[in-house]
Amino acid sequence: MNFLEERIQKDGVVKEGNVLKVDSFLNHQMDVKLFDEMGKEFARRFEGCPINKILTIEASGIGIASVVALHFDNAPVVFAKKAKSINLDGEMYTAEVESFTHKNTNHVIVSKKFLSKDDHILIIDDFLANGCALQGLIGIANQAGATVEGIGIAIEKGFQQGGRMIRNLGYKLESLAIIDAMDASTGKITFREQQAAHH
Ligand code: 5GP
Repeated sequence: MNFLEERIQKDGVVKEGNVLKVDSFLNHQMDVKLFDEMGKEFARRFEGCPINKILTIEASGIGIASVVALHFDNAPVVFAKKAKSINLDGEMYTAEVESFTHKNTNHVIVSKKFLSKDDHILIIDDFLANGCALQGLIGIANQAGATVEGIGIAIEKGFQQGGRMIRNLGYKLESLAIIDAMDASTGKITFREQQAAHH
């Protein structure tokens, strides 16, 4: 098991409805040293990609993306903001994102000031479930004419459809932990085998 799988095994809580709670180190209280390990591993997995910008979505992606960015040269973090209403003055890229955990739909926006066709983006997020958040971020990158160099996810729930869909679209998607099965009644979590993270 890699460092993140070990932490999920130790502190993650499997809830009904296919939800994994990782509030004690990732989604509420944040273990920034763990984020730093994640950044190191993403830098290794995306080595050689000409990444100049990191794109994420509020709220949970921001902390992780910020620490991950320390492992890339000159790559500011831009986060898609949840907007109550979108003004259509043409200053924003927009996408609709259905929330897996909250079961509602958000408009998310990124100012045209901060993404352009010259950007080579690494998308970062905490979870991948059905892939709605990623589709929204990819849509925003496409509106900007930017290049998506890769996608880095902390925890992918491999039994949901997002991972397969995004890989089928041809994106380089790297998830540090992929959960193939989890059981709320026993708490058992089964990880997909992957190559060990280097330290
Ligand atoms: P998707 O859009 O891929 O269906 O879901 C991704 C988003 O939903 C993530 O950004 C994350 O905030 C949230 N999410 C999805 N599944 C889980 C889960 O099992 N646990 C937690 N804590 N968040 C989740």
